Amino acid sequence: MFIHKDKFFKIYFGDASDKIFKEDFVSLPANTNICNMQQFANIKKNIKLDNLVFLNQVHGTDGLVLDSFGAGKEKVVENFKVDGDFLVTNIENVGIGVLTADCLPIVFIDIINNIVAVAHAGWRGSVDGIAIKTIESMQNNFGTKLDDIKIFFGPSIKSCCYKVADDFIKNLEAYKFADMVFIKNNDGVYFDLVEFNVRLLKEFGVKEENIYLEYNLCTMCDKSCGQEFCSYRRGDKDGRQMTVVCLEF
Ligand SMILES: [Zn+2]
Repeated sequence: MFIHKDKFFKIYFGDASDKIFKEDFVSLPANTNICNMQQFANIKKNIKLDNLVFLNQVHGTDGLVLDSFGAGKEKVVENFKVDGDFLVTNIENVGIGVLTADCLPIVFIDIINNIVAVAHAGWRGSVDGIAIKTIESMQNNFGTKLDDIKIFFGPSIKSCCYKVADDFIKNLEAYKFADMVFIKNNDGVYFDLVEFNVRLLKEFGVKEENIYLEYNLCTMCDKSCGQEFCSYRRGDKDGRQMTVVCLEF
């Protein structure tokens, strides 16, 4: 587990040691505040949470904005029931999270307006532009400027392990840089999901120095920090590690 602390936000990058099973939550009563559940005890030790929100991730590019004015508040309690793959909030002490097991968790921070967002970016959502859709939501709802965004990539499957079919590149035909995000060797073709998202963000106008990759360890093979990650491709079909970001002043 990693915790990134800054002046007004904290990010929790979980691992297999506190993995989540979505099935534990789907039948909870609508008003359950899940942040008090045992599964989140480790997060609560490190982040002051009043509430915690996850969506029902569908590998799409839609998301949910939780703002201060109550419009989203009734949705706060509908954990794992609202379809979506990104969350944006300006509410203090409300953790917003995604669950992953090889897909890429991306955290966005507007350091001027104090807005945080988190996205679940598998290959399909990435190719469909979820990273850009998340930023556009921050821009449209909160006036976020590109130069003010810091972006943190969490643990995901990386090019060392992400073997794909030889014709997978067809999925990226809309992108000029498609050839640059594959590694071909004698063993086959490997997709660099991380490089894809970095290039997408840079092309959109995010400064490269504002994209932080230090938490982006390979979920499938990395054990360098003594921790193992959930990896769908390695065989963990149900467990998911969580990435949670929270405004905390
Ligand atoms: Zn790997």
